[in-house]
Amino acid sequence: MAKNIQAIRGMHDVLPEQSPLWHFLEDRVRQVLDSYGYREMRTPILEMTDLFKRSIGEVTDIVEKEMYTFEDRNGDSLTLRPEGTASCVRAGIEHGLLYNQVQRIWYRGPMFRHERPQKGRYRQFHQIGAEAYGLSGPDIDLEIILLTRRFWQQLGLDGVELQINTLGTSEERKAYRGVLVEYLNGHKEQLDEDSLRRLDGNPLRILDSKNPDMKQIIADAPSLMDHLGEESQAHFESVCKGLDDTGVAYVINPRLVRGLDYYARTVFEWVTDRLGAQGTVCAGGRYDGLVEQLGGKPSPAIGFAMGVERLIALLEEDRERLELKQPDAYLVLMGDEAQRQGMLLAEKLRDQMPWLQLITHCGGGSFKSQFKKADRSGARYALVLGEDELSRGIIGIKPLREDAEQQQRPIDQLADFFNREL
Ligand code: ATP
Ligand code: MG
Repeated sequence: MAKNIQAIRGMHDVLPEQSPLWHFLEDRVRQVLDSYGYREMRTPILEMTDLFKRSIGEVTDIVEKEMYTFEDRNGDSLTLRPEGTASCVRAGIEHGLLYNQVQRIWYRGPMFRHERPQKGRYRQFHQIGAEAYGLSGPDIDLEIILLTRRFWQQLGLDGVELQINTLGTSEERKAYRGVLVEYLNGHKEQLDEDSLRRLDGNPLRILDSKNPDMKQIIADAPSLMDHLGEESQAHFESVCKGLDDTGVAYVINPRLVRGLDYYARTVFEWVTDRLGAQGTVCAGGRYDGLVEQLGGKPSPAIGFAMGVERLIALLEEDRERLELKQPDAYLVLMGDEAQRQGMLLAEKLRDQMPWLQLITHCGGGSFKSQFKKADRSGARYALVLGEDELSRGIIGIKPLREDAEQQQRPIDQLADFFNREL
């Protein structure tokens, strides 16, 4: 027999059992985004490969070795998006949304990176992210961080810690780069292969190395913080002051450089120690140069992206607390006439209560087997309709999640019952 085809390594199905968690997260997150006036933008999952080469940068993990790139039937080089910011900027420029305007935008969806799959690291994963364009001051940096804090509050997640840093302007980074390269050249024998390669092209990224052997040399490296100009310093101080004012606890992490090339000034990550090595659940920062780099008129920008799978893993730990939505009722139908009438009744109930989650039993079977299915469905009530109930115009209501007797009600009072009880 032929072997069953399986999902691609590192790409996962979200099963029905899991989707209530996803809905919980998506609903809460969307509510927060709405409450700050961010509007959703949806872009294609495929983009021209050059978009990512030009935005993320040629000397990055993503572009060097993680992209799903292929030629389509016309010979164009296309890439499954590895992140969302490049597409937002591309669409913003294309539709004239950015120049001289303030835009608050969010997006969500699957991203693709050919990484080594492990817990919290997949080849298809999901992000929800937001971007604010046209604002260069520290106030929007603060807003973005406050917005992300509200996510954790609304999701009931604690133990997520804010780390922030500033990368200065590109000129300041250039000056710092010289100092850093000098230092790293002095310790060449301790650099790993990746870092040696980056020494010329992109030395700052060496600070982002995940290799434990590199930890010490990175810790001892000169700090960009000591090479900032006055304006960058003031910008950063203002963000920190805003965080103090609003009671956001944070740690300044001078080694936080972020994986992508286009960041400037404020960068931040929300990190938890509950997920092992893959502890960053949200990462973002300012990227003032990118819009121009992609051919638009210059426009300041800041944004972040969250790893949905990592947040789901955190939520999963205390699934009980979330009181996820279960079906309200399961309609048990005994006999041919009850099956016919039951369908009509169920339709009527959904007319009256569009929010009601009602499963109608299909396929007949014994009372016992139907009741077992009602129980397994997670429904709060079983509704029982048989010949006897039909002839008397009543229906049985049996609570399934508490120890209580079955009661009987006139069928036409069911809506009253649910409106009161649910
Ligand atoms: P990491 O340092 O974990 O590789 P990154 O710097 O590559 O992350 P970003 O590109 O900034 O991450 O993406 C933002 C967030 O998306 C990350 O903080 C993480 O939560 C999530 N994320 C990134 N890559 C993956 C992946 N391969 N699988 C699952 N989640 C991911
Ligand atoms: Mg990465």
